[in-house]
Amino acid sequence: MNPVVVAVAITGSVPRKKDNPAVPTTPAEQIESTRAAFEAGASLVHIHVRNDDESPSSDPARFAAVQEGIARQCPGMIIQFSTGGRGRDQAARGSSLSLKPDMASLSTGSVNFPTIIYENHPSLVEDLATKMRDGGILPEIEIFDLSHIHAARRLVDAGLMSDRPHVQFVMGVKNAMPAEEHLLDILLSETRRALPNATWTAAGIGRNQSVVMDWALARGADAVRTGLEDNVRASKDRLAASNAELVTLAAEQIARHGRRVATPAEARAALGLRPA
Ligand code: MG
Repeated sequence: MNPVVVAVAITGSVPRKKDNPAVPTTPAEQIESTRAAFEAGASLVHIHVRNDDESPSSDPARFAAVQEGIARQCPGMIIQFSTGGRGRDQAARGSSLSLKPDMASLSTGSVNFPTIIYENHPSLVEDLATKMRDGGILPEIEIFDLSHIHAARRLVDAGLMSDRPHVQFVMGVKNAMPAEEHLLDILLSETRRALPNATWTAAGIGRNQSVVMDWALARGADAVRTGLEDNVRASKDRLAASNAELVTLAAEQIARHGRRVATPAEARAALGLRPA
């Protein structure tokens, strides 16, 4: 079996230090938390940045500082910026793409979240996809609903995206898709039909993180996702105290499936990225 890319979502847009003091929110904290996760086996980092008051930020200078520090301290690690919308000005969601990270997240449709509508207007989706295509940035398609697979296919057909994106099924967000094993089979079979060259992973939010990881590993996923972004809010659901500890737990889970953690070079090859 192919080695498994471990993606770590270090910060997110919701958790704050009062939820878990280990959530890294300054660039220096984010670089240090990523370095520790990298040493534990993570080869891909998913990055949101924050303002000084911990609110979500779109400031390209913040993204640049984190990108530069991680490139220096974590040789070869795949850097993925979030273009997610929570708490951010819609028009600024693509502003960090000028920094040409290896990857960026791309939500291809709208969906209800616990307390908001996660709005991804078709024109915004096309604009972000165009920026990624023109910048040579590999999209990670965030699948919060079945229709988002077909929206990704339409981007391919329109020439706005290569036919080999990385796809992430997100399960366990309240008001979106529940974390149920048979749903993963439906999503996977539909993705293999609509996007046969895509690589894939699945993210389970909160208490669902380890069970969704098991389902994904049992189905030969190219990657798994962990990190405090998905696993911090309710202490009763919390698996571990830090990003590095969560990566260590993921590595143990990968080993239990008879697989091993990908090196950064293997991760780049698996996702079709250039060597560092
Ligand atoms: Mg995110």
